[in-house]
Formats: sequence, structure tokens, C-alpha cells
Amino acid sequence: MPELSVILPMYNEEAVVDMVIEAVVEQLTALERSFEIICVDDGSRDGTATAIDAAAQRDDRVVPVILSRNFGKEAAMSAGLEAAGGRGVLLMDADLQHPPDLIPRMVAEWDAGFDVVDAVKADRGSEGPVYALAAGVFYALMGTSVGEHLRNSSDFKLLDRQVVDVIVAMPERTRFFRGLVAWVGFRVAKVPFMVQRRAAGTTSWGTWGLMQYSLRNLVAFSSAPLRFVAVLGFITVGLDVLLALQTLINWLAGNAVDGFTTVILTVGFLGGLILIS
Ligand code: UDP
Ligand code: MG
Repeated sequence: MPELSVILPMYNEEAVVDMVIEAVVEQLTALERSFEIICVDDGSRDGTATAIDAAAQRDDRVVPVILSRNFGKEAAMSAGLEAAGGRGVLLMDADLQHPPDLIPRMVAEWDAGFDVVDAVKADRGSEGPVYALAAGVFYALMGTSVGEHLRNSSDFKLLDRQVVDVIVAMPERTRFFRGLVAWVGFRVAKVPFMVQRRAAGTTSWGTWGLMQYSLRNLVAFSSAPLRFVAVLGFITVGLDVLLALQTLINWLAGNAVDGFTTVILTVGFLGGLILIS
């Protein structure tokens, strides 16, 4: 088994496949480590899979994992983690936005005994104010401890084998890799990096996609939405008590429409009860 496995999730990245493999090979060769490069083709519509296969023909350290359709980056990373055999596993974006020249510093932290080496964004790039606000709300809803960990974190990480084993063994179906890594603990080192510009191609994330991704992660990873609904239930019941009093007073005073009191009391009571439940 190699010392290091590098996982590169790829969706429509034919323009960068050779570039990123070359850059990673250069770094790891300089470090004199044995390695494998797991290229996960996430159901690309372009020539990514062909380019990966060609690279694997030339260099047997390149391991192709070709998914049957596009499952999304989270699933592609999971597939890579399951295929990885290294004592350490490095995940990075294939578009060179995660600079390969950070690899030596990450490996040094791993050598120093850290189980998780987290590359954190030193700046959040060219984000607009709306995006920044949305990201802030997302991390706040994630809960303070995990949210704090996640702020500025990326999927650019080096994990020790024991962390990989724990994460692969987790029963989560809807996976939120960054969240899971923050959640499992272990000894974490942080290495800052500047997000680079894409080497070629375009991002596959639109605003709508990011919103769906955030919502899915919140629902799958955090109990905040559940708690929100429960609080809503208590507020509903509180307001309903006031409404019930008013309705009862009207009924006692004799100016209530027939049956109205019963309907108001039942609807309000059941609504609150359902939300709280
Ligand atoms: N990616 C993937 N499956 C997808 C979308 C993206 O494997 O469905 C990969 C993509 O090829 C890249 C990484 O995930 O290596 C990050 O994607 P992208 O650059 O589009 O996102 P951004 O950097 O803009 O957040
Ligand atoms: Mg990118």
C-alpha cells in the first residue's frame, strides 16, 4: 500500500486532468513518498473519463474510479475515500484552486503527528456581500462548535488512515464531508491557503445548487431545523392560549357564531401539538 493516496473528484474537468496529475506527481516525487492518485470521474459529460484512463495507462500510480453517473462532489469524495489505501489520504479539487504547492506543508504537519490537516481559506476570495451573508447564516445555523470549525474550511484536507476508517464506517447517507471531519475530532492542524483561480473550465455550482447543498447539509447534519420547528410549536401554543381565552369570553358573553368556538380551540390546539411533536 502507498504511503499517500490523493483523491481528485472530477466533473467535466477534461481540460485540467493532465495538469493536476502532473502537479501532484511533482510535489509527491519531491517529497520522496510512495503514492497513488485516485481520479474519480463523477459522471462527466466531456472527455474526463477518457483522459483519466489514458493517464492510468501511462502511470500505474493513477487509479481510475469511474462513477456511472453524476452523483455530486460529496459522493465522488466518498467513493475516493473507500478506494484509498494509503496511510494518509489527501483530498483536493481537481481544478487547481487548491494549490498543490501546499502539499509539502500539509504532509509536514501530518508527520508531526496531526491526524487531520485542514487547509483553511486565508481569504474568502471574490465573494459578494449576499454570498458572505448566506454563508454566515449557514454556519450560525450549524451550531456554534461545528460552525466555528467550518468557517473558512474547505475540502482540501489530509487525513490520517484512522480518521479515514472512521469516516468511511459512518452510516451517513447524505454526507457532508467537511462537517463529518469537524465532528469526529482527532488532532487537527490548520494550514492557511489562498484560493486560486480555476486553471480551466467553469465552476459547476450555481446559486440554486449552492442553496440546495446548504439546505441538504443543514437538514442532514444539524438538529437546528428540528429545534426551530419545536420553538415555532411553543410560540403557536402560546398565541393560541390567548386566542382561546378571547374566544371563550365571546362564547360566555353569548356573541359567538354556532360551532366557531369549538373549531378555533381544536385547530389551534392540534396545530401547536403537531409542531411540538
Ligand atoms: N465536482 C464533482 N462533482 C460535481 C461537481 C464538482 O466531482 O458534481 C468536482 C469538480 O470537478 C472539482 C471540485 O468538485 O474538482 C470542485 O468543484 P467546482 O470547482 O465546480 O466548485 P467551486 O470550486 O467553484 O466551489
Ligand atoms: Mg473549483
